[in-house]
Amino acid sequence: MKTLLEMPAVRECAAVACSFNDSGCHAPAVTVAAAGAAASCATFVESSVRGGAAGIIGSVGACARTDCVHNTSLACTAPSVQIGPDVTVSDCLTYRTA
Ligand code: SF4
Repeated sequence: MKTLLEMPAVRECAAVACSFNDSGCHAPAVTVAAAGAAASCATFVESSVRGGAAGIIGSVGACARTDCVHNTSLACTAPSVQIGPDVTVSDCLTYRTA
């Protein structure tokens, strides 16, 4: 059994408009959604409130992109992920289909 700290880290996030982004992701667990062709980070939020905790690096909590080669039972098995603008303003750029 793994703890959240062992879930795939968001090693880089270029969605700088997100409130959880402060030179990287600081959300405790992001959710990746299947939004059309995109693997969109559903945790992205623009707010005047600074999100997350400065002392942690974000990780993937759940992922609905079941066609991704890294997806098992709606969880991500990649060593880490990269997030940034692609189809939407904040997509999982590690998303790969077979
Ligand atoms: S790499 Fe695949 S399984 Fe992991 S978060 Fe991105 S889309 Fe989801």
